[in-house]
Amino acid sequence: MYDYIIIGSGVIGSLIARELSRFEAKILVLEKENDLATHQTTANSAIIHSGHDPKPGTLKAKLCVEGNKLYHELKKELDVPLLYTGAFVVAHDKKEEAMLDDLLKQAKLNGVPEAMILDKDQARKEEPKLASSITKVLSLPTTMVTFSWEVALAAMENALKNGASYQKNAQVTGIKKTELGFDVTINHKQVIQSKHIINAAGVMSDVIANMIEPDFEVKITPRRGEYFVIDKKVKGLFEHVIYPLPTDKGKGVLIVPQVHGNLLLGPTSELIEDKENVMTTREGLNYIKEQLTSLSDDIPYHQIIRTFAGVRATSTYGDFYIQESKNFPGFYHLAGIDSPGLTAAPAIAKYLIEHVMHDLPKKKANFDPIRRRPVSFRESSDQERLALIAKNPKYGKIVCRCEHVSEQEIIDAIHHPVGSDTIKGIKKRTRAGSGLCQGGYCESTVLGLIAQEKGIAKHQVMYDAQDSPILVKETKTHEND
Ligand SMILES: Cc1cc2nc3c(=O)[nH]c(=O)nc-3n(C[C@H](O)[C@H](O)[C@H](O)COP(=O)(O)OP(=O)(O)OC[C@H]3O[C@@H](n4cnc5c(N)ncnc54)[C@H](O)[C@@H]3O)c2cc1C
Repeated sequence: MYDYIIIGSGVIGSLIARELSRFEAKILVLEKENDLATHQTTANSAIIHSGHDPKPGTLKAKLCVEGNKLYHELKKELDVPLLYTGAFVVAHDKKEEAMLDDLLKQAKLNGVPEAMILDKDQARKEEPKLASSITKVLSLPTTMVTFSWEVALAAMENALKNGASYQKNAQVTGIKKTELGFDVTINHKQVIQSKHIINAAGVMSDVIANMIEPDFEVKITPRRGEYFVIDKKVKGLFEHVIYPLPTDKGKGVLIVPQVHGNLLLGPTSELIEDKENVMTTREGLNYIKEQLTSLSDDIPYHQIIRTFAGVRATSTYGDFYIQESKNFPGFYHLAGIDSPGLTAAPAIAKYLIEHVMHDLPKKKANFDPIRRRPVSFRESSDQERLALIAKNPKYGKIVCRCEHVSEQEIIDAIHHPVGSDTIKGIKKRTRAGSGLCQGGYCESTVLGLIAQEKGIAKHQVMYDAQDSPILVKETKTHEND
């Protein structure tokens, strides 16, 4: 019998697992996919928003501003990457300047520090590639950018270090109330018992809720966001996150410098039926190009290396829904955690535990809050590189030439406590395959290393999901060479 089962290993479930691992409790995180944080947390703009956008008085406004501050603590404790970009929201005429003034008032009401209006000359001095049509900007210096997937990984790694457990390929398919708590069915067969359940299933949070309470008051109305990724050669072209003025549909199409040097352009915001449909479309990508003309005259479209899409868990509730079930005490729902959910995530985890959950067990005396990032050859100095190679020559064998990822880093990622044995899992952990050639050069070597380290045949190595082979069968063996 577990004390807590957390459904979903996105940034929300992973940070909740870490917060709960401060207590004397038996915790299990269940994830239906073949790796953690495979949905919203892997496909978003990665912005740690200042908190200027949510309506004052909402939980989104409160937890966004608090979450933004908490990221400094997460950086110290979990070593998560943070780029201190700041942000500009742009205006083009008197009408938009008035809207910018209102946005500044809203930012101040929400408690956003250091927000101020800059005229076009001040703005262009800091950001020379802004569109010539821009007349004023709202400057939001506390805006930052992270690598969202790594926040989830770091939190999970730390939760496991502090005694929590994690099971992937474990889809929750049924939940039943029992006398002692809840019976949770995984993959239609295995049943696990828990005293409490935390529903952090993102776009599927209403599906999970409906397994036990069909009259759950929140419905997820998924919104897809599409993006272009620009090669890291353009690093430094834009230093700030650039936003248009927000509309009813959200924060609009943005320019976002990324922690690894790339530039992200997007997202769109389109209501869709299928909650996990992450296809990009010609219409969506053309829309991004149209919208960006109001932010810059100088977008390097010739440097696009890929496109992708993510689906937001937007809901009929209109705010973050973080509540104990009205019908089933001990069952906690986190629904409608769309943007700024990444920003708010550390504050959401604390809010759930400090204000919503009750009867928590005793705190552990030996909770260890520290996690450190694995060695990165790319980020090491020449001296550090030499020391690494002297220790292990495999650090000197570069597998991914675009991102300078060594053989040993790939081997480390395979055997990491939250390791992976898929091409995409290794890509997310090491960046092998994230560069200009998108794996064209290194993918077969990564595949060979996974097979070698796991002791499996090459055709058994998956791209991402459990049933996503890249190779079908061996066509040439030593016997018939
Ligand atoms: C296009 C886009 C742009 C965004 N930009 C930003 C931004 O710049 N800044 C910001 O603050 N926020 C942003 N967000 C929002 C942010 O990404 C999310 O709020 C955050 O990632 C939510 O995390 P989560 O853990 O709730 O959801 P998810 O990451 O989706 O995790 C939910 C997990 O639950 C699992 N799951 C679902 N059903 C089951 C089941 N039956 N059994 C077991 N597991 C299950 C899923 O597989 C998934 O891994 C954006 C979102 C999108 C889509």
